[in-house]
Amino acid sequence: MASAPSHANRRNAVRFDLLEDLQMDRLQFSRQILQKELGISTNQLDYLFAFPGKKIFEVIFTTTQHYESCLEKFEKKKSAPSFRRITISPLADIDLKTVHVMIFSERVRNQDVWTWMARYCEVINAMEVMDIDGIKTGTRRFQVRLIRRQGALQHLPNTIQLGAFRGSVFYPGQPKECRKCGSLDHLAAACTMDVCRNCKALDHTTAHCPTPVKCNLCSSANHRFKDCPQAYSNRLKLSTLRSAVSLSQEVMSEIPDDDQAPIPHANQVQQGSWKLNISLLQDEKVVSEFRVKLNHWLSLKPFFNLAGEWWEEMKIRAKRFFIDWGKRTAKKRRLKLQKHKAKLQRFYMMSYSGLMWQRI
Ligand SMILES: [Zn+2]
Ligand SMILES: [Zn+2]
Ligand SMILES: [Zn+2]
Repeated sequence: MASAPSHANRRNAVRFDLLEDLQMDRLQFSRQILQKELGISTNQLDYLFAFPGKKIFEVIFTTTQHYESCLEKFEKKKSAPSFRRITISPLADIDLKTVHVMIFSERVRNQDVWTWMARYCEVINAMEVMDIDGIKTGTRRFQVRLIRRQGALQHLPNTIQLGAFRGSVFYPGQPKECRKCGSLDHLAAACTMDVCRNCKALDHTTAHCPTPVKCNLCSSANHRFKDCPQAYSNRLKLSTLRSAVSLSQEVMSEIPDDDQAPIPHANQVQQGSWKLNISLLQDEKVVSEFRVKLNHWLSLKPFFNLAGEWWEEMKIRAKRFFIDWGKRTAKKRRLKLQKHKAKLQRFYMMSYSGLMWQRI
């Protein structure tokens, strides 16, 4: 279990940093930036901490709603001249949610619920909930990070449907929506709209919908859930899965009892045209971060019905991990090169204008 971040309990808190030579005193920041530019009224502000140096401010809002609206306003204004040298960072990790998905059918695969969840948010942890006698309850518990678009949290739907099976999705802070029409103003029992349940249009009923039914696992219009290539039952048919099962068993048996998790060989993480950049494995930092990740991924294994399903997911994660690292190192190298180039250019300019080169 990863330790909770130290700022986990800082609800409704954001930090502002003034960059470059920008400085403000507390009242100036409050009136000019918060109240005037961002349109925040004083009754929305619970605390305003001004740290020494006139460059760092922490703002605590009275409600989560005000906190959210501040993030959204800032996102809209951040390219304006007055905000060019100001950054904002949320201190409350309210993007992290514990989500319960309840489906009363033994025929729904955990893998499919996972795939469905990953469409809407970043899945961090998953487990099947059992009662104290160890009997499964039909509820899956996920730890997720919600996605933000233009500063606004993207919430999960209230219901999940996989083929013929429906279930409910809930977490603290989730907006309650009407199951029929998706409105946030009323619930399904009070809904007066005659909405097509397939495409949400008002001018026809579900039975007369001209839009083809979408796959409710991957939202493709070309097939239904039962034919979805991402659905577990169809993935099982793929021969690759069989080899993945034996491969994962092989890998599992290689894992020693101590904390030292194995480092993958190139052929174990490659998929499609992607190939592991072996030089990354020479980097101590990459290796130790990968070990931490792998230990976390190993803890997810019980959630999956088969080792092979877990392995499919882990291959994707390992691939993403190494691609991200590859990108990061490439970016670092590029920045270094740019810096050298700028230095050379400055040197050239100085010699050109007849100046003595002393210190660059
Ligand atoms: Zn409605
Ligand atoms: Zn329709
Ligand atoms: Zn599909």
